[in-house]
Amino acid sequence: MWHEYHGNIHLHTTHSDGTGTFDEVIDAARAAGLDFVYATDHNVLVRSQEEGYRRGVLTLVGQEVHDVHRVPQRNHLLCLGVRQDVSHLAPSPQSLIDGVRRQDGLSFLAHPVEEYTALMPQHYSWEDWNVSGYTGVEIWNYMCGFRGFITSRLRALLVALFPHRFTVGPVPDMLRKWDELTQSRAVVAIGGTDAHAWRFRMGPLERCFLPYLHCLRALNTHILAERPFLGANGELDASAEPVQHDHQLLLSALQAGHCWVGYDLVAPSRGFRFQAWQLPDGELPPANGAPHAIMGDTLEVPTPGRRTCFRVQVPRLAEIRLLRNGRTVARQVGRELFHQDPAPGVYRVEVWLERWGKSRGWIFSNPIYVRR
Ligand SMILES: [Zn+2]
Ligand SMILES: [Zn+2]
Repeated sequence: MWHEYHGNIHLHTTHSDGTGTFDEVIDAARAAGLDFVYATDHNVLVRSQEEGYRRGVLTLVGQEVHDVHRVPQRNHLLCLGVRQDVSHLAPSPQSLIDGVRRQDGLSFLAHPVEEYTALMPQHYSWEDWNVSGYTGVEIWNYMCGFRGFITSRLRALLVALFPHRFTVGPVPDMLRKWDELTQSRAVVAIGGTDAHAWRFRMGPLERCFLPYLHCLRALNTHILAERPFLGANGELDASAEPVQHDHQLLLSALQAGHCWVGYDLVAPSRGFRFQAWQLPDGELPPANGAPHAIMGDTLEVPTPGRRTCFRVQVPRLAEIRLLRNGRTVARQVGRELFHQDPAPGVYRVEVWLERWGKSRGWIFSNPIYVRR
């Protein structure tokens, strides 16, 4: 029995270069119906001041760490579950990752593969790909994803005013890189909005680019937790125990890859499931039985005469693609997809939905790994 929660993992407040306070972020999270927010201000850790169940929202604090003296700026790392500031380790990405692990924290490479244009040449991609031991990658950074569309000043204005018209999914090179990384080990995918709610001027008007409420409605990470959150009824005030308990459940789900990235602005992705059973040839998975694996899990290669049966369920009619090692092996327009496969590989799901005149990437699951 899995318990689904969703929230926003990568955002900035006035503790670094965001324009909103925690209270403003929490207002937006409540309005967006989120279960949790995980703020990651640059190179500071403000847990003791800000963490807790705040107006029913599990509010957590990590940090986004990078070496401020590096030229050019690269290698941003999201550090979750750390008790002490790790920003002094930033000059060596490997030491930083190791430092997060020593605190039983999780680390995700932030916006590791970015697009950029002649007008917007700045980018903050990951460069030190020889590092090891990190938990995963942010396969979709919502804010950075817009940079590649900004090829002229007019386009910049249009992106600022109508962002939903542009976004179609993660940067394709990022997905290719992730598929390459998962060939040798489990690499957990998350999505982040990188919300800053920056303000800009257009003549006499001041506008906000990607306000918190927009971001928190747009791109979320959905988790499947093994037990229910203690604070999920929204009645608790800031007593420490449920916060620690629920924080740990969230970290465990992320570490296991029991999560997917949902572009919820297109449609709520709540209820998505990707499960697998290993059964004799031709046998269908039980309608309500517990699966042998969910996203993030690893199965052995099936023995001769047996196959891995994948079942994908989506909350509304959409194009479901099952990929093995980055290539589509099954495709179905519907609310469910079944596929039986004897082959080893890294199986993951993408779901695409027609919206605003285009097919949009809606759901990106973590893989089920079938390995020898
Ligand atoms: Zn960053
Ligand atoms: Zn950021």
